Amino acid sequence: VPEPEATALTGADVAPLLPRPDARSDKYSRGVVGVAAGSHRYTGAAVLAVGGAVRAGAGMVRYAGVAEPVAQVRARWPEAVITELEPGQGVDEVGRVQAWVLGPGLGTDSEALALARSVLASDVPVLVDADALTLVSQDRSLLRRAAPTLVTPHAGELSRLLGTPRATIEADGLEHARRAASELGVTVLLKGSTTLVAEEGLPVRVNLTGSPWLATAGTGDVLAGIAGTLLAAGLSAYDAASCAAHLHGIAGGDGPLSAWDVLEAVPDVMRSVTGRHRGGS
Ligand code: AMP
Ligand code: MG
Repeated sequence: VPEPEATALTGADVAPLLPRPDARSDKYSRGVVGVAAGSHRYTGAAVLAVGGAVRAGAGMVRYAGVAEPVAQVRARWPEAVITELEPGQGVDEVGRVQAWVLGPGLGTDSEALALARSVLASDVPVLVDADALTLVSQDRSLLRRAAPTLVTPHAGELSRLLGTPRATIEADGLEHARRAASELGVTVLLKGSTTLVAEEGLPVRVNLTGSPWLATAGTGDVLAGIAGTLLAAGLSAYDAASCAAHLHGIAGGDGPLSAWDVLEAVPDVMRSVTGRHRGGS
């Protein structure tokens, strides 16, 4: 029987994939996620990406960035372990992480590029979002890595990555998510009213939990943080992307929302998804 082209993702699929700590767990075994995001101009994206990672249950979130976002992250997230970087500095001085989230609010100048290069040179999974997608669009060789890479574009960002008009991508997201996965050798989470997760050799997963209220600034940064935590916990890029999209969509709910509301809702959503589908124990 051939693999289906696409499969819808349900809570029953997601629940058994979500990490659940046990008595032997400690913060390191649960997953240390690194966040390289924010810039002197864009500080909020760093706060939201760190927040998504914290609220999705990371063992530890390490944040690396320049002075301005560091001040904001420090004020909002006392849980985060922070390394302040000089402009253009890499992440070599940051302690060990199990996965990186790279890009929200990072900017696209030469200093952002230097930071992106150093994160992408690491031997752990990297989620590439937002400004980092622009940087890798200008030099696709940055995506040639040994460890898994998860890219999380919306249609405009995928358009730049593939050099294909946005309208063409919007007309057939499934085809273009698959094409990006195979051409770039990465896992693709294509954001939009439905979110698609594509990886070569696997059926495209379709997530339908989101509502159009999610179309507001900052929600993508929260999604990146959630997915980063799941990557750091050891989920494959394909499973981390699928689970994050599912949880993020439910966390949005049906009504006016801010990105902050979404990250605050994540723990309850995780409890309800796992409770409903695991017998509630
Ligand atoms: P970004 O494009 O990075 O700002 O992220 C926006 C987030 O909102 C992604 O998770 C999208 O999937 C979601 N989103 C945007 N527009 C819609 C829509 N019309 N319906 C459902 N979700 C949406
Ligand atoms: Mg975005």
